[in-house]
Amino acid sequence: MRSPAEARVDLDAISDNIALLRERAGGAAVMAMVKAEAYGHGLVPAARAALAGGATWIGVARTAEALRLRDAGVTGVPVLVCLSVPGEPYDEIVARDVDLSVGSLPLLAEVAAAAERAGRPARVHLKADTGMSRGGAAAADWPALVGAALAAEAAGTVRVAGIMSHFACADEPDHPANERQLRAFVEMSEHAEKAGLRPEVRHLANSAGALLRPEARFDLVRPGIATYGLTPAPQLGTFGLRPAMTLVADTALVKRVPAGSGVSYGHTYTTERETTLAVVPAGYGDGVPRHGSNLLEVLAGGRRHRIAGRVCMDQFVIDLGDGALAPGDEVVLFGPGDRGEPTAQEWADALGTISYEIVTRIGARVPRVYTGRLAEREGHE
Ligand SMILES: *Cc1c(COP(=O)(O)O)cnc(C)c1O
Repeated sequence: MRSPAEARVDLDAISDNIALLRERAGGAAVMAMVKAEAYGHGLVPAARAALAGGATWIGVARTAEALRLRDAGVTGVPVLVCLSVPGEPYDEIVARDVDLSVGSLPLLAEVAAAAERAGRPARVHLKADTGMSRGGAAAADWPALVGAALAAEAAGTVRVAGIMSHFACADEPDHPANERQLRAFVEMSEHAEKAGLRPEVRHLANSAGALLRPEARFDLVRPGIATYGLTPAPQLGTFGLRPAMTLVADTALVKRVPAGSGVSYGHTYTTERETTLAVVPAGYGDGVPRHGSNLLEVLAGGRRHRIAGRVCMDQFVIDLGDGALAPGDEVVLFGPGDRGEPTAQEWADALGTISYEIVTRIGARVPRVYTGRLAEREGHE
C-alpha cells in the first residue's frame, strides 16, 4: 500500500559519497556512521550501500543497532558501538563480534567480565577525551585506563583494537580547539603504544575532520553526515557530496477559498484574496518541524510555496495563489535541490538548526523507498 508521504533514499548517492570520502581520506579506511537509522535513511540499506562504496567499517551509537546489523546479515565487517553504557548484554555483543568503545574503568571491567562469560576476548577501542568533555577518559585518567586494558589483554579478556577520540569543533577549521585536540590525541595514543598496546586503528575524524583536516585522518575516518550527502560545514561548501534523501508527499486536496480565510490552527495565516489552497499530508508526526509554520518552503507544481499557517500533526497547507495543482500531485518538501526544491540544509538554515536534525527526525511513519541501481540490485521496491 502506498503512503501519502515517503522518503526516497538514493542508495547510489550514499555509495558515491563514500567513494568520494575514501578518495579524500588518502590511505585511511572509512567507517560509515549509521547510528540513528543512518541519520533517518534506514540502518541496514544505508550500511550496505556504504559498504558497496568502499567503507570497510561500520559505526553505530547503540548496541541494539549493532545487533540489528548482525541479524540482517551484515557480517564479516567490523561494527563499532561508539556509545557504550553500563548494563548492556555485553556477552552477546562480544559473541556477535561487535567492537565496543570504552572510556572508563568500570565499563572496561564490565566488558571484560562479559568477555569471560562469552569465552572470547572483547574487541575494544579505548576512548580518549581530548577536549570535548563528553565521552572518553580525560588525560588524567588515561594512564590508569591504558594500564587496566593491558592487564585485561594479558588475562585474555580484552583485545584493544583501536584508540579513538572525537572532535568538538571540526566544522570550524580555524577553531583553536582542533589543534589542541589533535595534539592531545597524538600524545595519548603515543602513551598507549609506549605502554605496550598495539591498536589496529587510531581514529579521530568525523565528516568535517575527514574533509578539512588531512592530519586528523590517522588510520580511519568516521564520516556520518557526509555519507548522506549533506555538508558538515555549510559555510565552506558542499564538497561535491550528493544528498541521498528526498521527502515527498502527494497532495491530498485542492480548493478555492475566499479572501480573509484563516488557515490551520490558530489562524496564524489569513488569505489576502480569493485563492487556491492545497493540503499536503505530512506533519510534525512525520518529522516536519512545527517551527517551520509560515516559514519553510516546498516545491509544488514546479514552484516554491511557503507553508501557510501552522504545521499540524499529519498535514500542512500551502497557498497556491492562482497556481494549479491536482489532488495526488507530488509535492517535494526537500531533496538534493536539482529540481528547484529546498535542500535539508536550506530548511535547517531557516529553522536555526543543522541538517542532521532535519533528516534524522523524519519519523518511523514515513516509509523509506530505496532508489538507484544499488536498490534494484538488492531487490528493494
Ligand atoms: C556521529 C559520530 C560521527 C559522525 O559525525 P558527523 O559529524 O556526522 O560526520 C563520528 N564519530 C562518532 C563517535 C560519532 O558519534
